[in-house]
Amino acid sequence: MRNGPPLVSRSDEQRCINYRLKAGSSAIHGSGVYTCEPIPGRRKIGEVTGEIISGRKAAARSAGADKIYLVYLSDTRALDCSHGNLLGSLNHSCGSNAFLRVIRDRVEVYAKRRIETGEEVTVDYGETPHAGGMACRCGTPVCRARI
Ligand SMILES: [Zn+2]
Repeated sequence: MRNGPPLVSRSDEQRCINYRLKAGSSAIHGSGVYTCEPIPGRRKIGEVTGEIISGRKAAARSAGADKIYLVYLSDTRALDCSHGNLLGSLNHSCGSNAFLRVIRDRVEVYAKRRIETGEEVTVDYGETPHAGGMACRCGTPVCRARI
């Protein structure tokens, strides 16, 4: 969720993304990412862009932020996707249709299965290190209630 004028241009939002995606309001949480075309299973959807920061800085930013998009790359480094491309807005679902793969300092997003046009793209935050202790509202039959 961003307040005020957008911090990135539209082209930045689509940077490193291989399929047409758009932001939309989500039943899960705030704003989510939706497909504008089908994505076949196992395909690379794109790469999450952002700022690489230290774990210490990540902890400080999390403490002061209402909502922050962080992906931990290791015990000491994190990617702050708050001002990166659209893939930084991916919501969590316990029954996700996509997953993140961290390769060194890159965070890639892959489709788990075919994703139809208009579906929300979701990932399971629990599959990444350092998941928080938030309540989950994904509403899928496999929901674990906590992220
Ligand atoms: Zn859930």
